[in-house]
Order: sequence, then structure tokens, then C-alpha cells
Amino acid sequence: MTSPRTILSGHDISPKKSLGQNFLCDPQAAEMIVRKCGLSKSDVVVEVGPGTGALTLPAARQAAWVYAIETDGRLIEPLKETVRAAGLDNVTVLHRDIMKTDIREIYREAGRKLVVLGNLPYYISSQILMDLVEKREAVDRAVLMFQQELARRIAAPPGNREYGRISVALRYCAELSTVARLKPNLFFPRPGVDSEVVRIVFRPWPGNGDCDEALFFAMIKSAFATRRKTIKNALSAGMTKISASAWEELLVRAGVVPTVRAETLDVGDFLNICRHYKTMSGSMAREEKQ
Ligand code: SAM
Repeated sequence: MTSPRTILSGHDISPKKSLGQNFLCDPQAAEMIVRKCGLSKSDVVVEVGPGTGALTLPAARQAAWVYAIETDGRLIEPLKETVRAAGLDNVTVLHRDIMKTDIREIYREAGRKLVVLGNLPYYISSQILMDLVEKREAVDRAVLMFQQELARRIAAPPGNREYGRISVALRYCAELSTVARLKPNLFFPRPGVDSEVVRIVFRPWPGNGDCDEALFFAMIKSAFATRRKTIKNALSAGMTKISASAWEELLVRAGVVPTVRAETLDVGDFLNICRHYKTMSGSMAREEKQ
């Protein structure tokens, strides 16, 4: 692996903090992260932010194909050169913003569920992850590197200070495990904090039976928008279709104490609240019609 420093200086490129550019410089760490994907020659990989190709090359050696999606135009030609120099012909380098890319199109083109890989740019890591959850019909599993703080929030259990919307969303649809921790000295430039690699295996889609998923995501967004409020106050502030007193009744029916905070509730509680919300808002709509 040619070091990112050498590739960047060879093309007169300086890293951009605004794009979350901290390039992985350690080939063993890169190999280890890619191994956690469990790739075989039939897998199709989407790599988010390939940069100078630290993860792209080992992934391409193990998978059928890699789609490498990079937003920084300065890195596109250097990456293509690196791929060519490694003798690999199974990488498509796409000059695109991941937030404007629908990976379901790649899934349809590939004809099989994707493996998503990335040392994610920290400034949009949580948006990328939530987008992946929404589009998970296209994804089998993901191995993603985050700043430690976000990795902890993702994996936090109910009752934990770090447990929030993103933890509930992931627990709802996937099995998670933290598979590696990396120190700042393995990157150029060095980030200020440690990084963690999380492996995410999505459960069969759509799953969760009668759950209205759009409602579920709206519900957890409102529930955690104001963490200090009780669940009743948070939901009645965010979801105003039913009154505060109706929310109280609904929560009791769903088996949830209205004065607890969202961080004490698990996925099952939120699913229950959704079911009762649908029943109650449905019967209110019928009453209004009559
Ligand atoms: N994968 C490389 C590595 O491990 O050395 C680079 C990782 S660096 C933390 C994040 C990469 O994501 C950078 O190459 C950056 O340009 C790219 N990036 C930032 N925002 C992006 C976006 N919206 N869409 C696609 N790539 C993006």
C-alpha cells in the first residue's frame, strides 16, 4: 500500500477537514477491517469515501466488485491510478456525494444485497447511517468506522446516558458488534479522538410485522428531540395529531409509564406505542368523519 501522504503529496493535495479527511495509513489495520466484512468472491461492496484507497484495495482483492463513492474530485484520478497500479479491474470509482446517492440503484444493478464498507467522514456519519437503515432492503451487512463517541451512541443499551434515536433505530433492524478500536496515530492527519469499527448485520427486510416504519422513525425522533422531557411531554410536543391527555391514555394502554424519559424505553416499547397510536389516531379520524 502506497502511503496516503505519498499519494496526496504526489498530486499536491492537502487534506480537507471540512470533508472529514483522516486517511488510514496502516495496511495491517486496513486488512483487518476488511476481513471483518467476511467477503467472498460473490460479494458486491459499496465503499463510502474511499479516499486514497486504503480499504478499497483489500476489499477489491476479496470481493467480486467494489463501487467506491468519493465526493472529493481531487482524489478521483489518484484513486483510479492506485487501483490500476494494483492490477485490479473490479473497482468502479464514482465521483458522487453519498448523501445524493441511492444505493438501491447499485443493488438493483448488482442483483444482490450489498456489503457497505467505510471509514466514514465524521461530519455526516450519523446521517449516512440513518440513510442506510432506511435503505437496508439493499444491504446485507456493513462494516463502518466512526469516531468513538458516535460508535458508543450507536451501541448503547436502554438506560444508558448515550442511548438515543440512533441506538433505537439500529436495534430495531440489526445486530451490532464493535470489532476494532483504532488510535489516532494510525491516520493522517491525526484525528483528535479514537475510532471504533462497528459491524452491522441487518435482519431480513422488512421484518417487524405490522410496524408502520415511517411512523416508528417519526416517533423516536420526537421522543429523543428533548431528552429531559418525560415521554408524554416529548411525544405530545412532537406529534400533535392527538392531545396531551390522549397521549397519557395511549401510553398507559401501551404499558409505558407516561412520566419516564425516552432513554429508558426499548424497541418493544416504541413498537407498542406505535401500534396504539395507529389505533387511536385511526378511530379519531373515523369519529371526525361521522
Ligand atoms: N477510506 C479512506 C481511508 O480510510 O483512508 C478515507 C477515509 S476519510 C475518513 C473520509 C472520506 O470520505 C474522504 O475521502 C472524504 O473525501 C470522503 N467524503 C466526505 N464526504 C463525502 C460524501 N458526502 N460522499 C462521499 N465521500 C465523502
